[in-house]
Amino acid sequence: MSEHPYSQIECSPTQTDARLVDSVLLGELRQDGICDRALNGWRFLILAEIANFAALRRHLGKARSETLIVDFGARVREALPDARVVAVGREMLEIAFESGARLALDVAIAALEGAFESPFDIDGETHDIQPRLGGAAAAPHRDEVHLIEAAEQALAEARIERTPVALDVAGSTEAIDRAQLVRDLPVAIENEELFLQYQPKVHLRRQQITSVEALVRWNHPTRGLVLPSDFIPLAEETHDIVPLTLWTIRRSIEDQKILSRAGHDLRVFINISGVLLADAWFVRQACTLVEQSGAQLGFEITETSVIRDPESAIANLKVFAEIGIVIAIDDYGAGLSSLAYLKQLPARELKIDKLFVTQLTSSNRDPLIVRSTIDLAHALEMEVVAEGVETPAAMALLSVMGCDMIQGFLISRPINIDALIHFLDDGKALALATDVRAPFNRLATVWKRA
Ligand code: C2E
Ligand code: CA
Ligand code: CA
Repeated sequence: MSEHPYSQIECSPTQTDARLVDSVLLGELRQDGICDRALNGWRFLILAEIANFAALRRHLGKARSETLIVDFGARVREALPDARVVAVGREMLEIAFESGARLALDVAIAALEGAFESPFDIDGETHDIQPRLGGAAAAPHRDEVHLIEAAEQALAEARIERTPVALDVAGSTEAIDRAQLVRDLPVAIENEELFLQYQPKVHLRRQQITSVEALVRWNHPTRGLVLPSDFIPLAEETHDIVPLTLWTIRRSIEDQKILSRAGHDLRVFINISGVLLADAWFVRQACTLVEQSGAQLGFEITETSVIRDPESAIANLKVFAEIGIVIAIDDYGAGLSSLAYLKQLPARELKIDKLFVTQLTSSNRDPLIVRSTIDLAHALEMEVVAEGVETPAAMALLSVMGCDMIQGFLISRPINIDALIHFLDDGKALALATDVRAPFNRLATVWKRA
């Protein structure tokens, strides 16, 4: 039995072979022979929250609002009788089920939307309970953690896009046939199968989003979403990284124009692999693209990439800096660090690797490393970005330490350009950054005493 006070409210009996919507959907699919994964068992998790909880609570009072989740859960159980439904708070349900068909997730989401179309009778009054839905699908070989992460990401996107979002857990390296990916990659670049997501960086003192980082993804025609860690290293080996990065620069320039037309002038940072820093042809092409467009770009590079061929890397970085590209040192602390090179780089930003940031408030050593890195960067007249900020406590501590900017799931996951525009219009991130003050004050004392 779970310890959570709400978790007992709506637990269905465990049904290990729960096959949601199979009766409706899979019968047809199997007959058609379409569903070749029927026996492999896709797993699904939908996070459903009461979108209008605050309004209902104001209307119904605190005591009644505490049990709204029971009404919410009952309606979900009616719509999806074979799913396991667990309350994880007074506003949210986890809905888990399995099926032989990937399509079951979309069918379930549609069923849930339909179920909430009719109003509720709450203590004799009629009220709408509006669900917000984020769902994820995991193929058989994917683990539970990836499924939960994907469902959380889907819900975060659903909050921004105000529509249900369904995501697939990305394919993993083990499952991916590298040789095939290598063959597919040049075609992917030509066929526009790659796309960019953007993750904002928030300036803590200015309480403003000052820039975004572009992160590439591959929408593979048969494998679904493939993340960069599965294909960037391959692209570096085959040198497809050159056309890939030029595509990224072009796309970022176009998206920056779209952002600007929507009233948001932001610098766009692009990740530049080390192998490109010694490639004179790439450097010329990249400079031409940037100069012709007048775009405000930044390049994120790792120190390790400079150490490989310092002379040409430093010379090329200076060329980039001279035409107005802001250089940021990425993943600082994760690889080899050399103060000798750090001083010579024309970098204006230093990004502390998320390895140190995600454990900031639970480790004794990491706060000291982060603190001294911030001081070092400031001494070298660089601004500091902490990446991988996931909790308000980490944000507060970083703020006290004098960190200039933060980036991480707490502010936003990487999102598509449309969602980014919604996000910027909403000003939610700024509200979050303002919220830092309460924990900030508390942690300031802790930090000073430590
Ligand atoms: P990176 O540059 O260090 O990018 C940050 C990675 O951390 C991203 O993963 C991002 O989704 C993830 N992340 C962001 N916030 C958080 C957080 O709060 N917690 C945690 N745990 N993770 C967070 P992603 O998108 O999978 O990118 C992985 C790496 O792939 C990037 O690491 C970068 O090195 C590389 N990459 C991405 N796009 C490109 C590209 O266009 N070109 C090149 N050369 N490399 C790229
Ligand atoms: Ca980066
Ligand atoms: Ca990084």
